[in-house]
Parts: sequence; C-alpha cells; structure tokens
Amino acid sequence: MTAHADFGLIGLGTMGAMLSLNMADNGFRVAVHNRTTSRIATFMDEAGELASRFVPCDTLEAFVAALKPPRNIILMVPAGAPVDDPIEALRPLLDSNDLIIDAGNANFHDTVRRANKAEQDGLPFLGIGVSGGAEGARFGPAIMGGGLKAAWDRVAPMLSAIAAQYEGQPCATWMGQDGAGHFVKTVHNGIEYADMQLIAETYGIMRDGLDLSSSACAEIFTAWNEGALQSYLIEISGKVANSVDPATGQPMLDVILDSAGQKGTGRWTAIEAQMLGAPVTVIEAAVAARNLSAGKSLRQEGERLFTPAERSLPTDTTLNTDDLRDALIAGKILCYAQGFDLLEKASDDRSWNLPMPDIAKTWREGCIIRSSMLNDMATALEAKPANLIFAPYFADLVSRTLPALRKVVVTAAGAAIPVPAMAAALTYFDTITQSRGTANMIQGQRDFFGAHGFQRTDQEGTDFHGPWLNQHLK
Ligand code: NDP
Repeated sequence: MTAHADFGLIGLGTMGAMLSLNMADNGFRVAVHNRTTSRIATFMDEAGELASRFVPCDTLEAFVAALKPPRNIILMVPAGAPVDDPIEALRPLLDSNDLIIDAGNANFHDTVRRANKAEQDGLPFLGIGVSGGAEGARFGPAIMGGGLKAAWDRVAPMLSAIAAQYEGQPCATWMGQDGAGHFVKTVHNGIEYADMQLIAETYGIMRDGLDLSSSACAEIFTAWNEGALQSYLIEISGKVANSVDPATGQPMLDVILDSAGQKGTGRWTAIEAQMLGAPVTVIEAAVAARNLSAGKSLRQEGERLFTPAERSLPTDTTLNTDDLRDALIAGKILCYAQGFDLLEKASDDRSWNLPMPDIAKTWREGCIIRSSMLNDMATALEAKPANLIFAPYFADLVSRTLPALRKVVVTAAGAAIPVPAMAAALTYFDTITQSRGTANMIQGQRDFFGAHGFQRTDQEGTDFHGPWLNQHLK
C-alpha cells in the first residue's frame, strides 16, 4: 500500500467518526481503523462523497503503512486502558518521530504519565481535549492541547483548520506541557456539568413549581437563547424540551428516565479542586446531583416515607433558637447518613464487609464526633436501611426537625448569611425524597450533543436515543 494518508485515526465511535469526516472536509486524507473492524465498512458507507479521502485499514500494520512519515496518529477512544492498549500495540510498529495524539477525555494524570513515558522513550506524544460533542467534532470543535510544543506546532495547522473559529481565530490552543490540555478540558467539563445542572434545576421549577408542560418550557428556553443566556446548552435544552417521542407521541422529556450517567470528567474536576483547595461548590453539587439521580429506587422509597409536610415551608417564618436546634439535629442526621452511605459504597467496592453498626458503636465515645445519637444509629443500622434517615427512629426525628432546617436555610438565604452545610443537608433530603427528579433533562442534553443514550420510563434497556440523533450532523 502507498503511504499517502496525512493523518491516522483510531476509534470510529461517535466522536472519532465525526472528527474524521471533519478532517476529510478540510482536505486531509485520513487512514481509519477501529477495534471492531466491521465498523470500518459501515463508516465508509456513511462517509458518502467523502469516502475517497479515507484509507480504511483492518489491521494496525496496514494502518501504519498507509500513513506518510513522520506519522500523526489520533486516538479517539474512551479513557483508561482503551488508550494504553493501542499505544502499546502501535509503538513497535512506529518510528521514533511518529506522533501519537490522545484526543479523548483522558484523566490528566494518565496523560502526564504517558507523556513522561513517551519523553523517556524519545517519542512524541500529545494529549488534547476535544469539546463540542458530535456536532463540534463534525463541524468545528474547541481544542485544548498539551504536550511538547514542537509536537503541537507540527499538527497545529490541521487542528486549526478543523477547529471552530471565533471571529477568524481558531479555537485551538496549546495550553502547556504534558497533561495541561486534558486538565483544561476536565475543568471545561466540570463547568459543563454545573451549567447543565443549573438548567435542569430551572426546568424542574418550571415543571414542578409552575406546572408548565415540556413545550411551554421549550418556548421559554428558546426565548432565553436570544438574550444574556444565549448559549449552546440553552439552545439544545429548548430543542430537547420541544421534542416528541415518535414511539408514544409523548413529550420526549417525559419518557426519559431521570437517572443521569457520567464518564468521569465532572468527578475528576471535583477531585482535583479538592486536592488544590479550590472551591468549586457549584460543580461539586452538580456531580453529586448526577450521583443521586442514579439512585432511583432510593428516591422512590424516600418519597413514600416522608409526607408533603416535610417538603413545605412552615407558615410561621419567625426564627427562634428552637428552630436552630432542630435544624442542627436534622442537618447532623443527614450528614451522618451521607457518611454511612459512603462507607457502604466503599464496603461494596472493596469487599470489606464493613460492620456498619459496630462503626457507630465505636464512635460512641472517645472520638470527636461522639454523640448521644450514635447509639441510636448503631441500632438503626442493624436493620440495614437503604439510608440512615429511612430507619424508623430517624425517619421520625427527621420528620419533626426538617421543617426547622428548611426555615433556617430559607431565612439565612434571605439574609445573605452563608449556610453551605445546612443548605447541602436540605438539598440532600429533598433529592433523596423526590422520586422523579430532573436528570431527564441532563440525559436529553447528553444524548443530543454526544449520543450518550438514555433509559426510558416505559421500557427496559439502557441505550435509547431521541429523535434529534444525527439530525444536526447532516
Ligand atoms: P464511543 O463509545 O462512541 O466510541 C468509542 C470508540 O473507542 C469505539 O470506536 C470503540 O471501538 C473504541 N474502543 C473502545 N475500547 C477500546 C479499546 N480497548 N481499544 C481500542 N478501541 C477501543 O465513544 P465517543 O466517541 O463518545 O468517545 C470517544 C472519546 O471522546 C472518549 O474519551 C470520550 O470521553 C471523548 N469525548 C466524547 C464526547 C461526546 O460527546 N461523546 C465529547 C468529547 C470527548 P469498538 O467499535 O470496537 O467498540
């Protein structure tokens, strides 16, 4: 085979396929390979008139042979081992000046490790973040690069050509050494999580507070897209809210399960922020909201256990010290509930079989968090409740004290007195006692921009898509 392709791309999933078409559109000849080789032929069919710009390669050997030296190879695969595997397989086939570019959403620590290894071996490596979902990849993504500047300069003309342009300036930037590009992309995604969560909360108030239909919400989001809120996420929220499910004729939002998925970048942002002591409380709240949304059966049980009284504001809004005491009781129980939930998850994850009641017993005396409540917690945990506040003793105590917590948080917010922990405790209660949350909006957005798929409320299965899929890519 003649080596005539300018670039090589491995991983013809949602993003890799779109990025390849974008490169071809911009006049580059691209060798393509995919682990599941049947996908390569499908991709060539989908490429239509652009097919002649691609060199389909069923093996890595053919792929490497198709590339003009020095070779430039883009990996567009999920983070983790799927990046290391093709690197390992490729390296013996490559020359020392051949460049591997990881363009997926890698954890920047992995990128630093890979960059260091590549440098030791004298081989060029770049980690770049590509943002904009499938549509961005197809017609112009934002690109955040990291690694050796000389390697970046070598491929910058191609990256600038395929990137989005803002007033003639390509949105493709070298951010710094080794993992810098992937770190910037991670924080971008953390902000994306928070932006989406804020929109989902707004939709929730429209739906549950103002009793608006999906199409009414769509009209509002569409109108907002003209003003200060003009943005891609507001635009697609309007489109998602306006979509109708072809199978049932119902608004699409009403058939999407309110259980949001994630690939890890939001979580990584929260972890890195904690490590650096940088407060990103809105992003952390968004990550926690996605985690809580996944616990659908927990939220259903919570809604059954508590009455609307715990969810409404007391009519007497004058605050007194009894309210503060009760708010502290409720906040404290909710905080312990989170701690025990974390211990349960770690116990499952690590097969520790942690003795939950004995943990509570051990904490009864001697330690800083010793308290009279821990004895009751030890008893409550014997029955293995799905959440500490679902155990009868604590359900009753929370029922009696939660209205005070709500009153204190509302009053404090009105007086601009920060109560971050009390507010978090209240939000935690409201989330785990709401069977139908608002992550259906987040799932709609994720499927719209990234074809991530969602679950439905009326069918088993995990990979349904909305009617918007591919429509915006044509
Ligand atoms: P897809 O699931 O659509 O595609 C994944 C691709 O990776 C497939 O081609 C798959 O091949 C390949 N792959 C998976 N595991 C391996 C492996 N072990 N070895 C070799 N190839 C493998 O993912 P996306 O296109 O959505 O995402 C790709 C990357 O882009 C990810 O890092 C993602 O986080 C990032 N990204 C995604 C965005 C989105 O909106 N979707 C936006 C920005 C970045 P096979 O066909 O054999 O399974």
